[in-house]
Amino acid sequence: MMGRQATGREQLFYTFSMEDHVPEHHLLRGIHQFLDLSAFRQHMEPFYSSVGRPSIDPELMIRMLIVGYCFGIRSERRLCEEVHLNLAYRWFCRLGLEDQVPNHSTFSKNRHGRFRDSEAFREVFENVLSRCMAEGLVRGEGFATDASIIKADAQRQRGVPGDQAIDWGDLDEATRPVREYIAALEETNDPDTPRKSVSLTDPAATWITRGGPAFFAYSTNYLIDLKAGIIVDVEASAVNSAAEVEATRTMIDRVEDKFDLKPERLVGDTNYGSAALLNWLVNEKQIEPHVPVWDKSERQDGTLSRSDFEWNEQANEYTCPAGKTLRSDWRPMKHRPTRITKADTIIYRSHERECTVCPMKANCCPNTSFRKITRSIHEKARDVTRAIAMTDAYDQSGKDRKKVEMLFAHLKRILKLDKLRLRGFSGAKDEFLLAATAQNLRRMAKWLMPAAPETTLIPA
Ligand code: SF4
Repeated sequence: MMGRQATGREQLFYTFSMEDHVPEHHLLRGIHQFLDLSAFRQHMEPFYSSVGRPSIDPELMIRMLIVGYCFGIRSERRLCEEVHLNLAYRWFCRLGLEDQVPNHSTFSKNRHGRFRDSEAFREVFENVLSRCMAEGLVRGEGFATDASIIKADAQRQRGVPGDQAIDWGDLDEATRPVREYIAALEETNDPDTPRKSVSLTDPAATWITRGGPAFFAYSTNYLIDLKAGIIVDVEASAVNSAAEVEATRTMIDRVEDKFDLKPERLVGDTNYGSAALLNWLVNEKQIEPHVPVWDKSERQDGTLSRSDFEWNEQANEYTCPAGKTLRSDWRPMKHRPTRITKADTIIYRSHERECTVCPMKANCCPNTSFRKITRSIHEKARDVTRAIAMTDAYDQSGKDRKKVEMLFAHLKRILKLDKLRLRGFSGAKDEFLLAATAQNLRRMAKWLMPAAPETTLIPA
């Protein structure tokens, strides 16, 4: 017999427990187990007045933001609607069925006020990282670093040529990203090399081309531990090699200062193979660089390359295949100048008189009267890195590097952070910190919680 749903009978009292309605293997249950915001409350206390009406609980806002970043809910307006409707989200945010969800405008007010002054998002990120370490997910033996480009919330049509003087108008009337940008320029007192285009909406964003129409963007830089792929630090930077390398140095120093964590090896791609960074890693930090060395010394035209010349450390000279010497200084001087170029290299030259009569000249320096060899002042660190590249451990590091690339793919596809919603470096920093926190929480829950059975997740 066909049944009919009973309607029109209004029940006066309900016995309802949200706890019973959140599936046992729901991701938020795992995250809830490992998220402890009691230290965060203490951290925020000095930023609230001791008198007056109670504010919206900052822990509730952080819990809501974590839901948003974990499930790719990018708009705060939509996040408020989702938390209002979704039982699991309500349960995670500790909201009862009849509790009011905060208005979406509360988030922007707090973000530009207390949360930024108190570095609230970094505090939450570090709390979560401490828990990952306590759970044994961070070994500290090997770290990997990489950067990924995230589009800025700035239209390309609002860009103006970077070599033109820009009238920003009255700064009191300007938008927050513009004020931040001008303040940063004044602080560094550095006019910066003119950029091709500057956004009037978000002037700190970098104008870049990647095989299609150019756009404005920021880089998110990750430093991860290779055991479980936990992000140990994150930093926002401009999109260029120098800024990304600087971000890596900042992250390595910060993790060492705050958590006393220093890896034995650092894995990275060619971007991190500059001589200065290798020298810093090898000689200052005693970290093995598992990165490809930037090397343009091998010639492709069949003539002799630098590797065909023998280096003599004690005599500070090269010996060519014909047995002649190449020196940085041929004339005896009382006070020898260092001869270091702007690119931190020293140029070694052969003697013209010897090359002119050399039978190998056509194969060595066919277009010049003598041979020049450039040597980085950090060549020893480069040699150490080249030796590491011959080991089996380096091959393994190449495979390990995929872990950080996977995290970026996850960030863009699952967390849907392929374009920023907030503007300015501070906006990018906030978004990257929250996304990295969400990724660490998801990873901790997936590694440490028992896997869900194949059957349905909804309890009977
Ligand atoms: S050309 Fe000069 S530098 Fe080159 S092999 Fe001959 S002597 Fe040496």
